[in-house]
Amino acid sequence: MPPSRFLPHSALQSLIDVLAASGYAVIAPQAREGRIVYEETFQTAELPWGITLAQAAGNSRTTKGTHKQAFAWANGPQALKPLLFAPREPLWRITRQTDGYAVEAIEPPGRPLAVIGVRACDLAALRIQDRHFLGGPCPDPHYGGRREGMLLVAVNCTHPAATCFCASTGDGPEATADFDIALTELEDGFVIQAGSPEGEEILAALPLQEAQAGKIEAAAAGIRRAAESQTRAIPGQNLRDALMARLDHGRWQEVAERCLACGNCTMVCPTCFCHAETEQPELDGSGSLHSREWDSCFGERHGHIHGKQLRPEISQRYRQWLTHKLASWHDQFGRSGCVGCGRCIAWCPVGIDITEEAAALLK
Ligand code: SF4
Ligand code: SF4
Repeated sequence: MPPSRFLPHSALQSLIDVLAASGYAVIAPQAREGRIVYEETFQTAELPWGITLAQAAGNSRTTKGTHKQAFAWANGPQALKPLLFAPREPLWRITRQTDGYAVEAIEPPGRPLAVIGVRACDLAALRIQDRHFLGGPCPDPHYGGRREGMLLVAVNCTHPAATCFCASTGDGPEATADFDIALTELEDGFVIQAGSPEGEEILAALPLQEAQAGKIEAAAAGIRRAAESQTRAIPGQNLRDALMARLDHGRWQEVAERCLACGNCTMVCPTCFCHAETEQPELDGSGSLHSREWDSCFGERHGHIHGKQLRPEISQRYRQWLTHKLASWHDQFGRSGCVGCGRCIAWCPVGIDITEEAAALLK
């Protein structure tokens, strides 16, 4: 690891300014209507200073705390996913010509993004999404175009939510790879490290101070405490065989009696990548716009294939989600599809908890 330095809170604006001057649109967390969202940011005053985020099963709410930090919370409903894999976007347009059809690819907006506040679980999810969208024989040009220019400023977690369990999946709370810059926030500023030549170049333009040993130790202690304070855990990192042996377990029906099949869990999950493709034909028959949008295995449409509904029951849809995420994902990606961010727990309207369901299924 390159040496750690220190960036006082009062100099954080210089990071935004240097990133903007380097051509990036700077995306950072902001507090909005009780949530933390990622939006374009120009001033450090827009960050969620003094904000605390309480999360529990079926609950997520920001409050004004008594501290003076900007990142003393775990995660909001968004992660990097919507910035790279847009919730809805047009892919191509087909236009009728006198002698046939013309197909025009629609390019995604070209401005590179610098994202401040990326958590370790988000980086783990990004590795999975990169593999899904870019690892095959036909890399996705929309995802790839955005990903290529993206600069990642990670923030190590020192304030996990009650819903977090990244320590048990091995994906957090410390960012250990695949970032350009990493910050660990203390009461008066950040211990800061570069993780790439691009990150080092940005750091070279900042008014950094030498990081005293006490600050480095305080940052490490904050990350250690974050791991130790997590009370939820996924029971074992590879549940493939155990879950596949329980496809007829009574718990699938029990959870289906609570589940609304709303799909919130899949929308907020940073590793879910299912989508639907739709056509919007012009009324005059002159052409058609082809788009894709996020879809969910909890929706009726998703299981409707060749005129047949494959998963008419909610119990089958929940089973599909959990066994893909925690079991068959190992066959696809060599790891679980869960990075322990806890979003599906906090944003499930009826508080269904993936750690509790996995534990109940293993009994
Ligand atoms: S399954 Fe839930 S806890 Fe796991 S990565 Fe997805 S949203 Fe996060
Ligand atoms: S588990 Fe919760 S969030 Fe997911 S579909 Fe069911 S009710 Fe919605």
